Amino acid sequence: MRVAIIGAGIVGTSIARELSHYSVEIHVFEKNEDVGMGTSKANTGIIHAGFDDPPGTLRAKYCARGNALWHQWVKELNIPAAWRGEIVVALSDNDLKTLEDLRRRGIENGVDVEIWDAEKVKKEEPNLTKSAKGALYAPTGGVIESFMASIAVMENAVANGAHFHFNEPVIHLEEFSEGIKIKTPREDYIFDLVINAAGLYADSIAKKMGFDFKITPRKGEYLLFKKNTINLNYIIFPAPTKISKGVVVENTPAGNLMIGPNAQNISSKEDLSTTQDGLEYVYSFAKKIVPGIPPRRDSIKQFAGLRAEPEGGDFIITTDGEFWNVAGIRSPGLTAAPAIAEDIVNKIANELDLKPKERFINYRKPYPVGGKIICECEAVSEMEIREAVRRGAATVEAVQRRTRAGMGTCQATFCLARVMKIISEERNIPFEKVEFKKGAPVVIEKLR
Ligand SMILES: Cc1cc2nc3c(=O)[nH]c(=O)nc-3n(C[C@H](O)[C@H](O)[C@H](O)COP(=O)(O)OP(=O)(O)OC[C@H]3O[C@@H](n4cnc5c(N)ncnc54)[C@H](O)[C@@H]3O)c2cc1C
Repeated sequence: MRVAIIGAGIVGTSIARELSHYSVEIHVFEKNEDVGMGTSKANTGIIHAGFDDPPGTLRAKYCARGNALWHQWVKELNIPAAWRGEIVVALSDNDLKTLEDLRRRGIENGVDVEIWDAEKVKKEEPNLTKSAKGALYAPTGGVIESFMASIAVMENAVANGAHFHFNEPVIHLEEFSEGIKIKTPREDYIFDLVINAAGLYADSIAKKMGFDFKITPRKGEYLLFKKNTINLNYIIFPAPTKISKGVVVENTPAGNLMIGPNAQNISSKEDLSTTQDGLEYVYSFAKKIVPGIPPRRDSIKQFAGLRAEPEGGDFIITTDGEFWNVAGIRSPGLTAAPAIAEDIVNKIANELDLKPKERFINYRKPYPVGGKIICECEAVSEMEIREAVRRGAATVEAVQRRTRAGMGTCQATFCLARVMKIISEERNIPFEKVEFKKGAPVVIEKLR
């Protein structure tokens, strides 16, 4: 039995991990040079409790279960996480009504929630504006390092036998007498089962197999500040609107202050630019909720991510038996990914009577720490970087995403050359051939 998964975001990698419990041959095709380079690379990283998705939707079903699974997966796979709990803050009487609606939804979705009055919320989170009128509190919410999540899940799937084909976009697929034929620039393959987890491009893949839906990009911009500028007790949300959960103020698992995103419908699926207007909106919104955030100029990084918005608003999970669409996985897709994977793999295993392997490796070893300190801002050692390269990181960006080398206050000014030297030694390539990311020489990327 041969299965192909198209797309190595958090959804594709999670499906590969779940499927690797069974004796099947798994091939994941990814057009980029690494996992999690699409939507899964740039998001808020929140493992939502699951109180705000409309009851009865797939989003609600998979969010609450996904939250429970992530509590287990971060331990098994050594993914940095901070389980601080979420609060949704009311700034007006109208917002207080929204909190009541959210509470009811939370209860219907089976999520643990409670309402705090103004006095309690100010005591619990002293960084909040004095005009906070109350909050909804969900203790099971947390935040994980989202880029590390796809990497860790992929490494574990590989340890259990899955094959990842990087830089290998699927350019065509069609029904064939012996299965589904997949064409890439490298080869033609035949598979018994194909799972479309191609994120923003899942609509084009689906169309080739006769499914018709549309995915549109919705941009979200962020500002990241250095560690310990503000230490928050909770992940802080405003009351949500119809199109977005609103601008979040949070500490990442590493302790950086992160604020964002906004929500802007755009036409290009590749436009990851940040804009003055977008970032100003994010900053002023966050400042209203947490007045003590540092000045905007203290931000060490700005970035944007693109949500894959499905028509109709809910996840699109459909199948004709041999071909599955796992598409339109908008927020809370990071949270939902393990639960989506669990559910569809259970269905496939039952349908095809798949046999579980005798031995499944459920853990992932962290990178060993030792030797010289290479990145001083993040205290990353030489052994961590060498191990990251040995496990597949081929570029400076791939090393950053695995070890955090270059992600600190100086944003790689001091450690860049040292990281490049280790990559050149480990991969046996000339120093000047080390790339920032595939096809992007370091100097060009730094000028961007
Ligand atoms: C601004 C923002 C904030 C968010 N915040 C949160 C949050 O806090 N919590 C939460 O739960 N969710 C959040 N989300 C949602 C979450 O990030 C997504 O639901 C999730 O990352 C989707 O994962 P995916 O695997 O479906 O897509 P992707 O990560 O985009 O993966 C799809 C992959 O398919 C590949 N691909 C595409 N076409 C092809 C092809 N032809 N051949 C081979 N490969 C192909 C792409 O390169 C990509 O790597 C947020 C999203 C955004 C944008």
